[in-house]
Amino acid sequence: MSRPKGINTICTHVGELEDREFKGAVSPLYMSTSYAFEDVETKRYPRYFNTPNQVALAKKMAALEHGEASLIFGSGMAAVSTSLMAFLRSGDHVVFQDSLYGGTSNLVTEEFEKFGIEYSFAKDAKAESLKAEIKPNTKVIYIETPSNPLLRITDMRAVAQLANENALVSMIDNTFASPVNQNPIDFGIDVVIHSATKYMGGHSDILAGTVISSEEYINRIFHMAKNFGGSLSDYTVWLLERSLKTMGLRVKAQNENAMKLAEFLNSHPDVANVYYPGLKDHPDHELATGQMKAYGGMLSFELKENINASEFMKALKLIKPSMSLAGVESTILLPSKTSHGLLSPEEREKQGIKDNLLRFSVGIEETEDLIEDLERAIKKSN
Ligand SMILES: *Cc1c(COP(=O)(O)O)cnc(C)c1O
Repeated sequence: MSRPKGINTICTHVGELEDREFKGAVSPLYMSTSYAFEDVETKRYPRYFNTPNQVALAKKMAALEHGEASLIFGSGMAAVSTSLMAFLRSGDHVVFQDSLYGGTSNLVTEEFEKFGIEYSFAKDAKAESLKAEIKPNTKVIYIETPSNPLLRITDMRAVAQLANENALVSMIDNTFASPVNQNPIDFGIDVVIHSATKYMGGHSDILAGTVISSEEYINRIFHMAKNFGGSLSDYTVWLLERSLKTMGLRVKAQNENAMKLAEFLNSHPDVANVYYPGLKDHPDHELATGQMKAYGGMLSFELKENINASEFMKALKLIKPSMSLAGVESTILLPSKTSHGLLSPEEREKQGIKDNLLRFSVGIEETEDLIEDLERAIKKSN
């Protein structure tokens, strides 16, 4: 086998479709929903995840995450729900870590009971806490690292080992890290899921998802996926291929900015706390260093009591308030008012989400401009 390709080479080239007719530089886009019928095995149809552009992009996804195969979905939640359902049936049990993405925890708490699927949330993201929730009927263990919004880190090796010892399927939502910063399959995790709406799309204009795993597991997920019908339109598949070409460059710039901004905020007299796994005083710094290539573009922080977080957000000019994350533009939100706004104050307190906690998705703007924006807004709201 040839040497595994580096990230930017995979991003630019793997899976690309050759334009045999015109020799164009990029993959041609095939929008057909109807293809000549050859035989039952090879009937092509977008909902079967087998159009030329879908198959091409799936190859890139698999290469990015060091997996054998992949499927491209119409949203991150389609990837999450279909992957979970493919391995769970009535009477089974699944263990989740705490502080999951809001949509995933809604899926579990609002829908699973209807299907007779039992679940437990571990008390935190530690492997021993996940272990404590395993029951005789547990089939899946599901983690998310770095977590939202406090950027806690789950030990992927320990989780993969737990899964092995207990014959469970291990799944990770790797959205926050992106394949640039973390490749869970290398640590023994079975199934890797992304909301491609975030770092993969990267420009805040694509809704998509993906799952990467072994041939065997992807085949199993595919059988559920074609029934659930969550595939992605070829036009968006094609756009996502284009976005991925620069993912390595974008995420590297975001990593570097986030590190510098975390250091800036950490040494600022009006900042009470900074949560960024790249900082030496982050509780999981060593764990992050052992499993991440870089610490990512997401960070959170709390301003001191003398500063009103909402006023601070209003005073920012470059950094925009936003619900989503991971675009090339820097965005910020108050989890207590948005993503975690439906939780009771006690539940937020338990999860460590203070009312003035700000979640910052760092973009690719010049570091100096971002620092200036933060500095000015702190002064103005003080
Ligand atoms: C956004 C997000 C999702 C859901 O993805 P959609 O594309 O919005 O369906 C899942 N997990 C994480 C960590 C996310 O940030």
